[in-house]
This record gives sequence, C-alpha cells and structure tokens, in this order.
Amino acid sequence: EPAATGRDGDARGAGRDGIPLVHAVNVHKAFHGNEVLKGIDMDVRQGQVVCLLGPSGSGKTTFLRCINQLESIDGGRIWVDGDLMGYRDAGGRLHHLTDKQVAAQRREIGMVFQRFNLFPHMTVLANVMEAPVQVKGERKTEVKERAVQLLDRVGLAEKADAYPGQLSGGQQQRVAIARALAMQPKLMLFDEPTSALDPELVGEVLTVMRELAASGMTMIVVTHEMAFAREVADHVVFMDAGVVVEQGPPREVIGNPQHDRTRAFLSRMR
Ligand code: ADP
Repeated sequence: EPAATGRDGDARGAGRDGIPLVHAVNVHKAFHGNEVLKGIDMDVRQGQVVCLLGPSGSGKTTFLRCINQLESIDGGRIWVDGDLMGYRDAGGRLHHLTDKQVAAQRREIGMVFQRFNLFPHMTVLANVMEAPVQVKGERKTEVKERAVQLLDRVGLAEKADAYPGQLSGGQQQRVAIARALAMQPKLMLFDEPTSALDPELVGEVLTVMRELAASGMTMIVVTHEMAFAREVADHVVFMDAGVVVEQGPPREVIGNPQHDRTRAFLSRMR
C-alpha cells in the first residue's frame, strides 16, 4: 500500500493513494491502416482535470472515445479505476469484454460531446432523468430529486419543463452536462464542449465546468479554450499526429512550451 502523502505538485492531483483513475499505456489505434494513435501514454489521477490540446486530426477525440470504449484499441492497454478495457494482444487476438462489462464500465463514465444530442421530444427534466431510470433502474422519485438539484447546479432549475428546442445552445450543453452527472460518474469526458456554440454562450458552459472541476470531479477535456486549460487544468497534454508531444502543468506546456510543434500550435491559438 503506497503512502497517501504523495504530492505531485498539482493543485488537486494527489487523489486516492495517487493511483491513476485512468492509466493508458502505449495505446495504438488505426482506421483502415491509417494510424491515428501511435502509442499514447497518459495517467489521470482522481480529482485531476486534464486538458487535451492539439491541432485538428491529432487523435484527441479518438483517444477519448477509446477510454469510453466507443472505439476498440489495436495495441496497448487502458485501465479505468483498475478495470482493464478491451484490447488486442501481441498476437493480434482481441480480448473483448462482454457487452455487460462494457455497459457497466460506461455507466461510470460521463461524456459530453460537441453536439449536445438531447432527446428533442423530452423535457429537460426527463432528459436528465432518462439514463438513471432506464439504464440503472433507479427509482423515479430519487432520480427526480437529484435531477432537480443538478439542473439547479447548472443554473437551469427554471427550465426543467422546457424542451431542448426552446433553449439556447449554451443552455442545452449545460443540460447535457447535468444529464451526464445524473449517472453519478467517476470520470467525465468532454469533447470540445464549447466549439459548436456561439461565442457569447461559451462562458456559461465553461463556468459550469469550472465549478465541476472545483467540486473534485475527475475530468478529461478536449478543448481549444486556452484560458480554461491554463486556469483549470492540473495537467495539459499536447498531442500532434497521434503522439503526445509534451505534457505537464499548464504553466509549463502553455506558458513555456519546449517543442516547436507546441509553440507553433499555441501561436496559432492566440
Ligand atoms: P482530433 O480530435 O484531434 O481532431 P480525431 O481523433 O477526431 O482528431 O481524428 C484523428 C484522425 O482519425 C483524423 O484523421 C480522422 O479523420 C481519423 N478518424 C477518426 N475517426 C475515424 C473513423 N471512424 N474512421 C476513419 N477515420 C477516422
């Protein structure tokens, strides 16, 4: 049992015994022979916020999808909270998990997409209640109480009975965050959650994400919002062309990048 005193210099990063909640080793993924992830190593400790930065096409979304097993990996291993995700061994043999195992693991991981994908025919409250009731079989009365609290937390208590089409994009994305949180996940994945929004709506979503980070949620965030990454991330990973070019605290990776590719990317962002 390792000593729980471990500090790694990050603000909230020590976590439970310093054991990573996500432990990814040498992850490879190709689509039709096109290698998109070329050996990604990444650790995310409980309570950490990790931002994935990098140019379009560098593999950030694919990596997130691998963590959630929306994509299978061709090589390497990913553990989430100690559970090994499906993988392919050195002989090329797939080690599938059963559908039941995959479903159980996914229940623990919330994902927020660029597009909010709310159910248009359901009220906001019903959207937030849907998965805990249908997937987990929780009691409606308990779920409703939690859903109301979550809507309050994202500043949308008064929209409980509205339909998604009546909300702005920023409001819909906040509902999508509440919906993911309703499953009480141990990990939240965000895939460019503000990039489909009008600029004036970005701030309200980032505010909700900041509060979530401050509450201790473990988060992996693909984003082009440099100010958010700089202020909220404990750890920043810069990817390019399927590899991790550099990673570290934001004051290093964003404030004092060591690699030309990182510098070139950051200068385009400013
Ligand atoms: P990023 O999130 O950094 O923009 P992506 O992970 O979305 O990068 O994409 C990395 C590369 O993988 C891109 O070249 C993209 O076209 C390719 N890719 C992603 N998903 C698929 C897929 N399902 N089939 C084929 N190619 C894909």
